[in-house]
Amino acid sequence: MIYGLAYCDRDGRIYFDESRRPLADGGIVRMPQADELIAAPSGSLAMVLPGCRPRTGSGTQRRRHTLAVALPAGYTRLLLPAFEPDADAPTLPLFGYTFACVVDDALHVAAMQTDESDAWKPRTFAPGELEKLLDRRIALDPGNRVLRQVALCSREHGCFTAQNVFLENGEAALPVSPRCNARCVGCISEQEPEAGFPAPQTRVAFETTAEELARVAVYHLERVPNGIVSFGQGCEGEPLLRSVTMARAITLTRAVCSNGTINLNTNASVPKALQRCIDAGLQAVRVSLNSFRPSVYAAYYRPLGYTLDDVFESVRLAAAHGLRVSLNLLTHPGVTDDEPELLAMHEFLRATRIDMIQTRTLNIDPRWYFGVVGRPSKPRGMRAAIDAIQRLGVGVGNFTHTH
Ligand code: SF4
Repeated sequence: MIYGLAYCDRDGRIYFDESRRPLADGGIVRMPQADELIAAPSGSLAMVLPGCRPRTGSGTQRRRHTLAVALPAGYTRLLLPAFEPDADAPTLPLFGYTFACVVDDALHVAAMQTDESDAWKPRTFAPGELEKLLDRRIALDPGNRVLRQVALCSREHGCFTAQNVFLENGEAALPVSPRCNARCVGCISEQEPEAGFPAPQTRVAFETTAEELARVAVYHLERVPNGIVSFGQGCEGEPLLRSVTMARAITLTRAVCSNGTINLNTNASVPKALQRCIDAGLQAVRVSLNSFRPSVYAAYYRPLGYTLDDVFESVRLAAAHGLRVSLNLLTHPGVTDDEPELLAMHEFLRATRIDMIQTRTLNIDPRWYFGVVGRPSKPRGMRAAIDAIQRLGVGVGNFTHTH
């Protein structure tokens, strides 16, 4: 496979130069392999990285800017773009920067498809169509602040699970907690001023009640027989800090309808709080982590009052109670596939029942992330990491499934 450089000018116009072989970054800068490249899938977002100069086999292109791609849902990134930043190159906002190049005059990316679902295909609305849906639903329950929050997220952030509340489809969002007990470097709902870029989502500003949550859950499940309602969304902190409210919302919901799945997306930091939700009838849990190594986990999550051991204890608890257990693995080439990471992952997965690992692409400036967690010693390639998960009999995906 002959591949060439795809790059941008400062205004973001895209150019191809087939005479140059671009380098990629897998924790170690190298040439991409043919089996790591696919044609850029529909819904890919091409981006210029201002002041980042693309590296090639024949040197750094100092007059050109790096082109990177943000992948659509359902794809996992395998390699980062390799670039040399200018001294004044800004910190990049929270996107999943993926290596891109040209093959046969078409844009290609270093990625693999890890899931497929119509519910997660890129969406478009006719003018006013979404607003009409929001207004009609809110009119049925005007005082419900959960609806107000998911309407904001539907309108301003294009959040799929928020829009599903109004589309009466698939997995619906139930934001519950404005507070968090972690300070993730790449948090999408709250960033420290010195980060140099804003959080892409607006953190929910109030504590929703069990009654508000249950009304949204019941309305959804009464209309979507195999639907999912999920606590723990991108716009909130850690839901387990409000486990009493969640447990009561689950009880109120199950008092009315028994179909569908009640799911919790969480950092799983408080096993006791999770137990409370399980006792109330929680059926599925998706636990987020960036690493199976305590030091790499702590460097990114910056946890307040808990450790990775608490997270593992929660996962074992959910497995022991027969819940559907998924891990939301925030993947990053050079970290997820580093040999010590693969060994730690192998040890945990061999001892713990996990139904699925969602290999999500971590959205962060790679320079910053490597600065926080360190560059790898022996990266084995993201394909090898995903193969290792599958060889242990654990499903690989990108979305929450009920079976
Ligand atoms: S656990 Fe979630 S809400 Fe909390 S800091 Fe991390 S990303 Fe943000």
